[in-house]
Amino acid sequence: MAIKTLFVDPSRCIGCRACEAACRECDSHKGESMVMVDFVDRGWSVATQPTVCMHCVDPVAPCAQVCPVLAIQITPEGVVQQAEPSRCIGCRNCVFACPFGVPKFDVEARLMKKCNLCYDRTAQDLKPWCAQACPTQALWYGDYEEFANQRQGRAINLTDFGTQTVRTRVYQVVAAETPALDLAGLLREARAEAGQPERSRQEAWVL
Ligand code: SF4
Ligand code: SF4
Repeated sequence: MAIKTLFVDPSRCIGCRACEAACRECDSHKGESMVMVDFVDRGWSVATQPTVCMHCVDPVAPCAQVCPVLAIQITPEGVVQQAEPSRCIGCRNCVFACPFGVPKFDVEARLMKKCNLCYDRTAQDLKPWCAQACPTQALWYGDYEEFANQRQGRAINLTDFGTQTVRTRVYQVVAAETPALDLAGLLREARAEAGQPERSRQEAWVL
C-alpha cells in the first residue's frame, strides 16, 4: 500500500492558524499546538508557512538517535513519535539534533513534545487534524501518486544541510518550475573560495 503522508505547500498558506487550533485538540499534547505558523519575512510580506515534524527517514529520526533513554519511538510505519513521558529525562539532546528545529521542550513538564502525525488518527486511515482543518489544503494528506494526480507543484522530500542530505516522510511542495536549490554546491563553492578543505558526508553528520 502506498504510504500516506503530509504535503506542506507554503504557497497556499493564508495564515489563518486553523491548523494550530486543530492541533491543540490532539490528546497527546492537549492545549498546545505542535504546528507552528510563522511569517516568512514579516517586515516585507504577509506570507506565512506552517512547520511540522518532517518525520526523517534517512538518516532515520536524528532526534530518536541521540535520545539516551530511547524515549522517542518510531512506529513500524515510520512515524516518529513524541517522547514517551515515562522515559524522557529532559536532556534536550533531541532539540539540538533536529535539523528542522521541531521538538519543543516543555520546561514545566520536563518533556519533549512534537507532532506525531496524529498517530491515533492516521493509524486508522484518518487525516491528521491539521490537514483536516486547513481550508486551503496548504497541509494536505495523501500518498505521492494521489498528489501527482490531484495537485499542482513539485513535491520534494530531500533537504540539504551543508553536505548532509536528509530524506523525510513529509514532503514540501514548491512551484513546478522552481529549479533545485543546490545548497551543498553553494557550500562547496564558499569553502573553495575561503580555501577550506572539502569535508566528507560522514564527517558532517551527528553519527
Ligand atoms: S524533523 Fe526533527 S523531530 Fe521530526 S523526525 Fe526529524 S529530527 Fe525528529
Ligand atoms: S490552516 Fe492551512 S492556511 Fe491556515 S495557517 Fe494552517 S496551513 Fe496556513
